[in-house]
Amino acid sequence: MKKAYVKSYGCQMNAYDAGRMADVLAAEGYSATDTVEEADVVVLNTCHIREKAAEKVYSELGRLRVLKGERAESGHDTRIVVAGCVAQAEGREILSRAPAVDVVVGPQSYHRLPDLLRQSRETRVVDTEFPAEDKFDHLPARRNRGVTGFLTVQEGCDKFCAFCVVPYTRGAEVSRSVAAVVDEARRLVEGGVREITLIGQNVNAYHGDGPDGALATLGHLMDALSAVPGLLRLRYTTSHPNDFADDLIAAHATNPLVMPYLHLPVQSGSDRILHAMNRRHTGDAYRRLIERIRNARPDIALSSDFIVGFPGETDADFAETMRLVSDIGFSAAFSFKYSPRAGTPAAEREDAVPEAVKTERLAALQDLLDRQRHAYNAASVGTLTEILVEKTGRHPGQVAGKTPHLQAVQFDAPASTIGTVVPVRITRAGSNSLFGEALEGAAAAA
Ligand code: SAM
Ligand code: SF4
Repeated sequence: MKKAYVKSYGCQMNAYDAGRMADVLAAEGYSATDTVEEADVVVLNTCHIREKAAEKVYSELGRLRVLKGERAESGHDTRIVVAGCVAQAEGREILSRAPAVDVVVGPQSYHRLPDLLRQSRETRVVDTEFPAEDKFDHLPARRNRGVTGFLTVQEGCDKFCAFCVVPYTRGAEVSRSVAAVVDEARRLVEGGVREITLIGQNVNAYHGDGPDGALATLGHLMDALSAVPGLLRLRYTTSHPNDFADDLIAAHATNPLVMPYLHLPVQSGSDRILHAMNRRHTGDAYRRLIERIRNARPDIALSSDFIVGFPGETDADFAETMRLVSDIGFSAAFSFKYSPRAGTPAAEREDAVPEAVKTERLAALQDLLDRQRHAYNAASVGTLTEILVEKTGRHPGQVAGKTPHLQAVQFDAPASTIGTVVPVRITRAGSNSLFGEALEGAAAAA
């Protein structure tokens, strides 16, 4: 049987796309492999958000060229595919710089992969179109492999934050219909999935065709999904503060499947920097929004993205970011040093913050965020919570899963609990994971 190796970098959207590419290849008779040396097709699903993204892809392609040569010597053909956002951004340039590459395919065209692979026997091919047909209508049924799954409901971004390449690589905001999403969710649940994370670059800008012909919001979509039998939990990511409609806030109070966790990037606490970033919201607007969300769901766990050292950021601006973090209190977060991305407005600026200053600010911010994360986890010790069990744990007899607030927990229970929700008392907080005990009889009954 032919084998395919698919490697994905970056965000959840890419992880989802990589899974769908594996599905496309499986329908063509390729089984998945984790060993690149035995792969007949190698797909690199690239991310443009990474620093020096294109350069890293070219050096990986250099290594793959050697591998392709070695396999050819033993009579094996290897097709090399570059997909994802670097493929979209670099296009044909990849063919000139990386002679081993056979196919370059953008995030909107990967349903054409079988055709592109066939064409590549004649000539090397590039497909970075935003095709008129909807790729989701042309993908084979999903094969799922776990208790939790991602489901793309929205793609693209119209926001044009000054630092970000996504609107250029992923195109304008488009949403799938409620019917298409519900249909995919049903199949996932039939395949054993119990928790679905709805994903999109701006997932809360979702506006898909609803069953009554009107446009549905993300809140409506989650209401429709809560009727899928067997589905236990819903999450969504990534949201933008400016698209947070009242009905989405209400969903956190009224829809029991919507988990009390929210990743809501703010990027900075300084209004001057937020303006320069073209975020179109202030620090106080973010605080007010969080207050409204907490009024609806007081126990909601909050996470965010931060960028330090955006061009022109002063000590006073950075102090505003630290103040916002202290005011809100996050259970988790991602923080990055600003780095310029070619083609974005911020990359043109000449008032870069020195590297040493960025390093210092990032360390201070991460220290504060880490202390908040530890305090949040420590406060869970002694509480009774519900764990959706995802897999076996690190030690024999242990299983691992997540709280509604997205904390990882390990506890003793049989593997038969995988896919079920078990009541667990948290007994200890480790540095990356919590530990607990299943309520007596609860795990055995599963
Ligand atoms: N749509 C999402 C949003 O609005 O946050 C995700 C965008 S991006 C995939 C994830 C994060 O990468 C951003 O929230 C931002 O913090 C970070 N990021 C994007 N471009 C960056 C850059 N040029 N330098 C540093 N961090 C960046
Ligand atoms: Fe990038 Fe901003 Fe769009 Fe998020 S909202 S994808 S950070 S442009």
